[in-house]
Amino acid sequence: MRLRNIPRARDVIQESAFVVQDPEAQQGKWSGIFGNDQPVHLEIGTGKGRFILELAMRNPDINYIGLEKFSSVLLRAVERQDELQLPNLRFIRGEAELIETYFGEGEIDRVYLNFSDPWPKKRNAKRRLPSREFLRRYYRILSPDGTVEFKTDNRELFDFGVEEIEEGGFELLAITYDLHGDPSMNEGNIMTEYEEKFSAKGNKINKYIIRKKAML
Ligand code: SAM
Repeated sequence: MRLRNIPRARDVIQESAFVVQDPEAQQGKWSGIFGNDQPVHLEIGTGKGRFILELAMRNPDINYIGLEKFSSVLLRAVERQDELQLPNLRFIRGEAELIETYFGEGEIDRVYLNFSDPWPKKRNAKRRLPSREFLRRYYRILSPDGTVEFKTDNRELFDFGVEEIEEGGFELLAITYDLHGDPSMNEGNIMTEYEEKFSAKGNKINKYIIRKKAML
Protein backbone atom coordinates (compact mmCIF):
# COMPACT_ATOMS: atom_id res chain seq x y z
CA MET A 1 0.00 0.00 0.00
CA ARG A 2 1.45 3.37 -1.02
CA LEU A 3 1.66 5.55 2.03
CA ARG A 4 1.05 9.22 1.58
CA ASN A 5 0.31 11.45 4.50
CA ILE A 6 -3.08 12.96 3.80
CA PRO A 7 -3.61 15.73 6.38
CA ARG A 8 -7.42 15.60 6.35
CA ALA A 9 -7.52 11.81 6.87
CA ARG A 10 -7.45 11.96 10.67
CA ASP A 11 -10.22 14.57 10.80
CA VAL A 12 -12.50 12.70 8.38
CA ILE A 13 -11.97 9.48 10.33
CA GLN A 14 -12.53 11.13 13.71
CA GLU A 15 -15.73 12.80 12.55
CA SER A 16 -17.32 9.83 10.79
CA ALA A 17 -20.29 8.18 12.49
CA PHE A 18 -19.20 4.92 10.83
CA VAL A 19 -15.79 4.74 12.50
CA VAL A 20 -15.84 3.28 16.00
CA GLN A 21 -13.51 5.65 17.85
CA ASP A 22 -13.13 3.64 21.07
CA PRO A 23 -13.15 -0.02 19.99
CA GLU A 24 -11.77 -1.20 23.36
CA ALA A 25 -14.90 0.17 25.06
CA GLN A 26 -17.06 -1.91 22.69
CA GLN A 27 -15.51 -5.28 23.54
CA GLY A 28 -18.40 -7.73 23.85
CA LYS A 29 -20.94 -5.07 22.81
CA TRP A 30 -20.80 -5.01 19.02
CA SER A 31 -24.38 -6.20 18.59
CA GLY A 32 -25.33 -2.97 20.40
CA ILE A 33 -23.37 -0.88 17.87
CA PHE A 34 -25.25 -2.52 14.99
CA GLY A 35 -28.53 -2.70 16.91
CA ASN A 36 -29.15 -6.35 16.03
CA ASP A 37 -27.81 -9.90 16.54
CA GLN A 38 -26.69 -10.58 12.97
CA PRO A 39 -23.37 -12.40 12.42
CA VAL A 40 -20.29 -10.14 12.45
CA HIS A 41 -17.54 -10.51 9.83
CA LEU A 42 -14.20 -8.74 10.23
CA GLU A 43 -11.68 -7.83 7.51
CA ILE A 44 -8.17 -7.22 8.84
CA GLY A 45 -6.05 -4.86 6.73
CA THR A 46 -9.04 -3.52 4.85
CA GLY A 47 -7.06 -0.94 2.87
CA LYS A 48 -9.27 1.38 0.83
CA GLY A 49 -12.28 -0.79 1.60
CA ARG A 50 -13.53 -1.89 -1.79
CA PHE A 51 -14.01 -5.53 -0.71
CA ILE A 52 -15.91 -4.86 2.50
CA LEU A 53 -18.08 -2.08 1.05
CA GLU A 54 -19.22 -4.43 -1.71
CA LEU A 55 -19.83 -7.29 0.76
CA ALA A 56 -21.88 -5.01 3.01
CA MET A 57 -23.99 -3.86 0.06
CA ARG A 58 -24.63 -7.44 -1.09
CA ASN A 59 -25.38 -8.90 2.36
CA PRO A 60 -27.52 -6.62 4.52
CA ASP A 61 -28.16 -9.51 6.93
CA ILE A 62 -24.49 -9.64 7.97
CA ASN A 63 -22.63 -6.97 9.93
CA TYR A 64 -19.16 -6.01 8.70
CA ILE A 65 -16.17 -4.37 10.36
CA GLY A 66 -13.10 -3.20 8.44
CA LEU A 67 -9.91 -2.83 10.49
CA GLU A 68 -7.03 -0.81 9.03
CA LYS A 69 -3.81 0.49 10.54
CA PHE A 70 -3.30 3.64 8.47
CA SER A 71 -5.63 6.65 8.38
CA SER A 72 -4.41 7.77 4.97
CA VAL A 73 -5.49 4.41 3.48
CA LEU A 74 -8.72 4.01 5.45
CA LEU A 75 -9.80 7.51 4.38
CA ARG A 76 -11.14 6.31 1.03
CA ALA A 77 -13.25 3.59 2.65
CA VAL A 78 -14.68 5.98 5.22
CA GLU A 79 -15.50 8.68 2.66
CA ARG A 80 -17.38 6.14 0.55
CA GLN A 81 -19.29 4.81 3.57
CA ASP A 82 -20.13 8.37 4.68
CA GLU A 83 -21.89 8.68 1.30
CA LEU A 84 -23.50 5.22 1.27
CA GLN A 85 -24.40 5.08 4.99
CA LEU A 86 -24.71 1.28 4.97
CA PRO A 87 -26.25 0.35 8.35
CA ASN A 88 -24.30 -2.92 8.55
CA LEU A 89 -20.74 -1.53 8.13
CA ARG A 90 -18.29 0.06 10.58
CA PHE A 91 -14.57 0.74 10.53
CA ILE A 92 -11.82 0.70 13.12
CA ARG A 93 -8.55 2.60 12.71
CA GLY A 94 -6.45 0.20 14.70
CA GLU A 95 -4.02 -2.70 14.86
CA ALA A 96 -4.52 -6.40 14.25
CA GLU A 97 -2.27 -7.04 17.26
CA LEU A 98 -5.00 -5.55 19.50
CA ILE A 99 -8.07 -7.43 18.26
CA GLU A 100 -8.54 -9.23 21.56
CA THR A 101 -9.03 -5.85 23.21
CA TYR A 102 -11.60 -4.83 20.58
CA PHE A 103 -13.69 -8.03 20.56
CA GLY A 104 -14.91 -10.45 23.18
CA GLU A 105 -14.57 -14.24 23.01
CA GLY A 106 -16.67 -15.68 20.20
CA GLU A 107 -17.97 -12.28 19.11
CA ILE A 108 -16.84 -12.58 15.47
CA ASP A 109 -18.11 -15.18 12.99
CA ARG A 110 -15.65 -14.77 10.15
CA VAL A 111 -12.24 -13.15 9.62
CA TYR A 112 -11.09 -12.08 6.16
CA LEU A 113 -7.41 -11.62 5.36
CA ASN A 114 -6.82 -10.19 1.89
CA PHE A 115 -3.35 -9.71 0.45
CA SER A 116 -1.77 -9.33 3.87
CA ASP A 117 1.72 -7.83 4.10
CA PRO A 118 4.26 -10.65 3.51
CA TRP A 119 6.96 -9.77 6.09
CA PRO A 120 9.45 -11.90 4.12
CA LYS A 121 12.27 -11.97 6.70
CA LYS A 122 12.09 -15.06 8.90
CA ARG A 123 12.58 -13.05 12.08
CA ASN A 124 9.31 -11.23 11.25
CA ALA A 125 7.24 -14.40 10.78
CA LYS A 126 5.16 -13.63 13.89
CA ARG A 127 3.98 -10.39 12.31
CA ARG A 128 2.41 -12.19 9.34
CA LEU A 129 -1.35 -12.09 9.70
CA PRO A 130 -1.81 -15.82 8.81
CA SER A 131 0.86 -16.89 11.37
CA ARG A 132 -0.03 -19.27 14.23
CA GLU A 133 0.32 -16.37 16.68
CA PHE A 134 -2.39 -14.42 14.85
CA LEU A 135 -4.51 -17.53 14.21
CA ARG A 136 -4.64 -18.09 17.97
CA ARG A 137 -5.91 -14.53 18.43
CA TYR A 138 -8.57 -15.12 15.76
CA TYR A 139 -9.45 -18.40 17.50
CA ARG A 140 -10.35 -16.56 20.68
CA ILE A 141 -12.57 -13.90 19.09
CA LEU A 142 -14.28 -16.36 16.72
CA SER A 143 -17.56 -18.16 17.46
CA PRO A 144 -17.42 -22.01 17.72
CA ASP A 145 -17.82 -22.64 13.96
CA GLY A 146 -15.96 -19.46 13.03
CA THR A 147 -13.92 -19.34 9.83
CA VAL A 148 -10.95 -17.47 8.37
CA GLU A 149 -10.75 -16.77 4.63
CA PHE A 150 -7.33 -15.82 3.29
CA LYS A 151 -6.44 -14.68 -0.25
CA THR A 152 -3.06 -13.68 -1.63
CA ASP A 153 -1.03 -13.89 -4.81
CA ASN A 154 2.12 -14.38 -2.71
CA ARG A 155 2.84 -18.11 -2.88
CA GLU A 156 5.52 -18.05 -0.17
CA LEU A 157 3.18 -16.33 2.27
CA PHE A 158 0.35 -18.68 1.31
CA ASP A 159 2.47 -21.83 1.78
CA PHE A 160 3.60 -20.48 5.15
CA GLY A 161 -0.05 -19.83 6.07
CA VAL A 162 -1.10 -23.37 5.13
CA GLU A 163 1.62 -24.78 7.41
CA GLU A 164 0.35 -22.69 10.32
CA ILE A 165 -3.30 -23.85 10.20
CA GLU A 166 -2.98 -26.86 12.51
CA GLU A 167 -0.84 -25.12 15.13
CA GLY A 168 -3.20 -22.17 15.10
CA GLY A 169 -6.12 -24.42 16.11
CA PHE A 170 -7.92 -24.59 12.75
CA GLU A 171 -8.79 -27.20 10.10
CA LEU A 172 -8.76 -26.74 6.35
CA LEU A 173 -12.16 -26.61 4.64
CA ALA A 174 -11.20 -25.55 1.11
CA ILE A 175 -8.10 -24.49 -0.82
CA THR A 176 -7.18 -23.36 -4.32
CA TYR A 177 -3.97 -22.16 -5.94
CA ASP A 178 -5.90 -20.52 -8.80
CA LEU A 179 -9.00 -18.85 -7.45
CA HIS A 180 -10.11 -17.26 -10.71
CA GLY A 181 -9.75 -20.61 -12.51
CA ASP A 182 -11.75 -22.50 -9.85
CA PRO A 183 -15.48 -22.02 -10.59
CA SER A 184 -16.79 -23.27 -7.25
CA MET A 185 -14.41 -21.28 -5.04
CA ASN A 186 -14.65 -18.22 -7.27
CA GLU A 187 -18.43 -18.07 -7.10
CA GLY A 188 -19.46 -14.72 -5.63
CA ASN A 189 -15.80 -13.66 -5.32
CA ILE A 190 -15.28 -9.95 -4.73
CA MET A 191 -11.96 -8.66 -6.01
CA THR A 192 -9.91 -6.48 -3.67
CA GLU A 193 -7.77 -3.61 -4.96
CA TYR A 194 -4.64 -5.76 -4.74
CA GLU A 195 -6.37 -8.76 -6.30
CA GLU A 196 -7.31 -6.72 -9.34
CA LYS A 197 -3.82 -5.28 -9.67
CA PHE A 198 -1.94 -8.57 -9.31
CA SER A 199 -4.28 -10.77 -11.32
CA ALA A 200 -4.06 -8.21 -14.18
CA LYS A 201 -0.31 -8.90 -14.16
CA GLY A 202 -1.03 -12.60 -14.61
CA ASN A 203 -0.41 -13.67 -11.00
CA LYS A 204 -2.50 -16.57 -9.75
CA ILE A 205 -4.55 -15.96 -6.62
CA ASN A 206 -4.38 -18.47 -3.76
CA LYS A 207 -7.21 -18.87 -1.28
CA TYR A 208 -8.01 -21.00 1.72
CA ILE A 209 -11.00 -21.29 4.04
CA ILE A 210 -10.28 -22.71 7.50
CA ARG A 211 -12.54 -23.42 10.47
CA LYS A 212 -11.93 -23.44 14.18
CA LYS A 213 -11.29 -26.90 15.59
CA ALA A 214 -13.34 -27.82 18.63
CA MET A 215 -10.40 -27.73 21.07
CA LEU A 216 -6.91 -26.27 20.92
N1 SAM B 1 -6.80 -5.86 1.74
C1 SAM B 1 -6.49 -4.83 0.74
C2 SAM B 1 -6.46 -5.43 -0.63
O1 SAM B 1 -6.45 -6.67 -0.74
O2 SAM B 1 -6.47 -4.68 -1.61
C3 SAM B 1 -5.14 -4.14 1.09
C4 SAM B 1 -3.93 -5.01 1.05
S1 SAM B 1 -2.46 -4.16 1.62
C5 SAM B 1 -1.14 -5.10 0.97
C6 SAM B 1 -2.40 -4.62 3.33
C7 SAM B 1 -3.18 -3.65 4.23
O3 SAM B 1 -3.17 -4.16 5.55
C8 SAM B 1 -2.57 -2.27 4.29
O4 SAM B 1 -3.58 -1.29 4.10
C9 SAM B 1 -1.97 -2.20 5.69
O5 SAM B 1 -1.93 -0.90 6.22
C10 SAM B 1 -2.90 -3.12 6.46
N2 SAM B 1 -2.26 -3.74 7.63
C11 SAM B 1 -1.08 -4.39 7.63
N3 SAM B 1 -0.78 -4.83 8.87
C12 SAM B 1 -1.82 -4.45 9.67
C13 SAM B 1 -2.09 -4.61 11.05
N4 SAM B 1 -1.21 -5.23 11.84
N5 SAM B 1 -3.23 -4.09 11.54
C14 SAM B 1 -4.11 -3.45 10.72
N6 SAM B 1 -3.91 -3.27 9.39
C15 SAM B 1 -2.78 -3.76 8.87
